[in-house]
Amino acid sequence: DAGNTEPTDGTGASGSPADEAGVLLSARGLHKRFDQLEVLKGIDLDVRSGSVAVLIGPSGSGKTTVLRSLNGLEIPDAGTVRIGDVEVDFATAPTKKQLVGLRAQSSMVFQAHNLFPHLSVLQNVIEGPLTVQRRPREEVRAEGLALLDRVGLASKAEQHPYQLSGGQQQRVGIARALALKPQLMLFDEPTSALDPELVGEVLSVMKDLAAEGWTMVVVTHEIRFAQSVADQVLFLDGGVIVESGPPEAVLTDPQQPRTRTFLHRIL
Ligand code: ADP
Repeated sequence: DAGNTEPTDGTGASGSPADEAGVLLSARGLHKRFDQLEVLKGIDLDVRSGSVAVLIGPSGSGKTTVLRSLNGLEIPDAGTVRIGDVEVDFATAPTKKQLVGLRAQSSMVFQAHNLFPHLSVLQNVIEGPLTVQRRPREEVRAEGLALLDRVGLASKAEQHPYQLSGGQQQRVGIARALALKPQLMLFDEPTSALDPELVGEVLSVMKDLAAEGWTMVVVTHEIRFAQSVADQVLFLDGGVIVESGPPEAVLTDPQQPRTRTFLHRIL
């Protein structure tokens, strides 16, 4: 079934089972410094298979750096990241092979979609599976069309990104990330560059993915989304996780003054 790209229970093609406790992603002691600036000061994170973790926090608190560290786009100075059965210890500089292995475990959806302007929507979606994963074109094409259907854009397959609205482009970005069949989906403020009226359609696709059992880590300021979709919310400030827990605790009854101040400011 070409359309079936839903995660199974970690026994999928790339085979990266969660551990016995059901934890798919585990990060420990992530530290990152940019010159004088210590951006991550020891981040620990556990995300169970099929669950959604939402990172919130002020601008500059380190959310994007955490996300990028999880798939090796940023190389932490210390700490470990395990996704499924791939583990990288950043105490020593990772080899290219280790980074490629880690990157293959997750797909990132960026703030701006980064679609290739000269390729059609469908070509954008299947580019990764074709060139990075070297999978057969016919198979990949069928899956790509099914994914476009899934994000409500089947009719746009042959159009080019500039012919689409920002929300539609971002949905293509999601389809493109899904096409790589990752264990884990990472979202870096996927709606923050969109006009307000286009935010809902993207969040709705993300909500569907969560309901289908995708494991997701989402950086967002959309507190209502966090409230209704997250299994855990982590509040970052100054490179540390100040408070974490289920949304009804962190968002509704925050214990830390810094969390309260932040929520007051954005709500
Ligand atoms: P957030 O996503 O919470 O806004 P970021 O992780 O993007 O925070 O950034 C955290 C801090 O690290 C900010 O002060 C930012 O300016 C700095 N930073 C991020 N990336 C780099 C980089 N490549 N070089 C230097 N400083 C950076």
